Amino acid sequence: MNPIKWPLLVSLIFALFIGGCDMDFEPDQEEVPEFAIAIHGGAGVISRDIDPEIRDAYLESLENALEIGRAILDEGGTSLDAVEQVIRFMEDDPLFNAGRGAVMTNEGRHELDASIMDGSNLATGAVAGVTTVKNPISLARMVMENSRHVLFATQGAETFADQMGVERVDQEWFFTERRYQQLQRALERDAVERDHDGEESSSLKYIDDRKMGTVGVAALDRDGNLAAGTSTGGMTNKRFGRVGDSPIVGAGTYADNNSCAVSSTGTGEEFIRNVVAYQICAIMEYTGVGLQAAAEQVVFGKLQPNDGGIIAVSHTGEIAMVFNSPGMFRGAANSFGRFEVAIWD
Ligand code: ASP
Repeated sequence: MNPIKWPLLVSLIFALFIGGCDMDFEPDQEEVPEFAIAIHGGAGVISRDIDPEIRDAYLESLENALEIGRAILDEGGTSLDAVEQVIRFMEDDPLFNAGRGAVMTNEGRHELDASIMDGSNLATGAVAGVTTVKNPISLARMVMENSRHVLFATQGAETFADQMGVERVDQEWFFTERRYQQLQRALERDAVERDHDGEESSSLKYIDDRKMGTVGVAALDRDGNLAAGTSTGGMTNKRFGRVGDSPIVGAGTYADNNSCAVSSTGTGEEFIRNVVAYQICAIMEYTGVGLQAAAEQVVFGKLQPNDGGIIAVSHTGEIAMVFNSPGMFRGAANSFGRFEVAIWD
């Protein structure tokens, strides 16, 4: 071949190679949503024979809660506001084990825990064992924004609530007949139970086992900031001063803009031992795996079957809702129009 033609041949092969690559090129991965939100209302053994009216009541409440958060994020609100407002709504709904409708302690009282975290700066606030605060999630946010501390417990948290002037209620506000009956059954069995445990014998016939009702939210806003929060009455028949994972930053709640925002629900002691929420974020940050894989690694690899689950949103708007119990009340929405609530697989 005439040596002068070599450059032409090389160019031709190069062009064919590039052309071939173009033809095989995979389309881009799913675009990153501008905002995303995931919520939960507890995890556990929820019978598929659940009374349809009760099932629909849960689904409707989840939809309403999700819509509150979706609308805030859609209008450019912060992930922190979305987390707080959704949880306030769920705390006020007696269906859930948070705020009104919280489960009862061994002494027949209500002691509430909550936490919130800002993924943009790792600011966080929590309260444990509060008894008169209508919306513990808002008090947790005040701890984060108006104190130099992270967690206030029991009487100290009430004193802080006095200073903040948050809305107070008496214990009757939290009372529901259903939780009272749960406590009676737990006392008979000398069992400490998650919400909905033991309702198989109840005429309500809605939840077959004893887990569920804690509420939590994880959200990514249009500015790319993550936040998470969790609120609970804890476990039925819990003993003096017992604190679960929900107000423990790293176990029940975690948010870091470098990785993800997580809220947990289930047997709190196991979530504390396994530092579940932080561990999911750490796996993402240190190994580079995606949110779903990181969450599955922890929920299926570290926790025991039926311990519960998590909802989470990553810094790229990926949503994970992973649980090792038969059901988890949950919902997910994003800027692409995804909007769904579910109970079972
Ligand atoms: N994790 C909560 C606690 O142990 C209970 C729950 O999620 O249902 O206090």
